[in-house]
Amino acid sequence: MRLETKAIHAGLDVQNNSKAIVPPIHTSTVFEHSEEGFRDGDLNYTRYSNPNRLQLEALLAELEGGEACAAFSAGVAAAKAIFQSLKPGDHILIPADVYAGNRSLVEKVMQPWGLEADFIDMTSIQNIEDAIKETTRLIWIETPSNPMMNITDIEAVCELAKEKNILTCVDNTWPTPVNQLPLERGADLVLHSTTKYFGGHSDILGGAVIAKSSDGIFERIREIQQLGGAVPSPRDCWLICRSTRTLPYRMRGHNEHASHLAKFLQNHPKVENVFYPGLATHAGHGIAQKQMSGFGGMISFLVKGGADEALKIVAGSKLIKRATSLGGVESTWEHRRSSEGEGSRTPENLIRISVGLEHPDDLMEDLERALSYGEK
Ligand SMILES: *Cc1c(COP(=O)(O)O)cnc(C)c1O
Repeated sequence: MRLETKAIHAGLDVQNNSKAIVPPIHTSTVFEHSEEGFRDGDLNYTRYSNPNRLQLEALLAELEGGEACAAFSAGVAAAKAIFQSLKPGDHILIPADVYAGNRSLVEKVMQPWGLEADFIDMTSIQNIEDAIKETTRLIWIETPSNPMMNITDIEAVCELAKEKNILTCVDNTWPTPVNQLPLERGADLVLHSTTKYFGGHSDILGGAVIAKSSDGIFERIREIQQLGGAVPSPRDCWLICRSTRTLPYRMRGHNEHASHLAKFLQNHPKVENVFYPGLATHAGHGIAQKQMSGFGGMISFLVKGGADEALKIVAGSKLIKRATSLGGVESTWEHRRSSEGEGSRTPENLIRISVGLEHPDDLMEDLERALSYGEK
């Protein structure tokens, strides 16, 4: 089956005894035990499992090509479960320009817990190899990275990690399985913030871990999900399933519109540089072409000038909303350094745009208006 078909049908039959085409939302927190008492694998209590969550997990596992999935209440809760599945004293390698929320999670929550971490440049395999220690248990990959759009060669890193018996996890939030399939390239785990493209409408918070294999590290992640309780509500699971049915077609639109806008920005006199892996001029374009089937809906670009100029440009849009986050049907953009706040390493003249599904000509007109602030 192809991805479009899987997105529509996967998970529908899980715990759906009524055979409803659209499964109902199961609000009950408890489920009746059989007459012989509770049996392993039966539904019991919603923190452990719920029909809607099982449907969502089956759907996400199928799309990423994994054996198992655990859904969480947020992307960072999913990331935290992965880190907690390691032991205090274990060491991880994580990109220097990792998603800022995951950097804070590691620095403010996991390092005090005992996790050791080095934030490194992951565009060079040699650099990764040099940073591996005796205690390194996990290499965290985010490609394209956020917001610099650096590209890491998933296959090459996973090969190196396997040789050294180190786990790999790819944050696949930006590309989605429509554009990139890390498990096929050798990764052990995939992380998602389903808040973004899976949800797709800026109205659900969620996260997920998908595992190549349902045993090993995943068993511990499942335990942390069920015992830790950072689980999504049945209604949110239902909503994410509903949105995911259209994910492949939404991603086609995001890919197509973003590549138009990236070219437009590249030719604009007020723009100093554009970071989009689909551009032939992008440093990681060759690797991106090998491992991505589409280049996604996210673009970062540097404007000529500093923070002032960038903020004025972002203030001048009428259609593109000023907001953080990404992956909605509506376009949003932000002066990224202001959003990341203290400790941000993002250039002060960088604007990050999440290209939505409006007509690309309307978006380009809006960009033109915003970029020509102060002119008549
Ligand atoms: C948003 C995001 C996360 C965190 O997800 P939440 O749902 O906000 O907790 C993780 N990784 C990436 C790449 C993201 O964009």
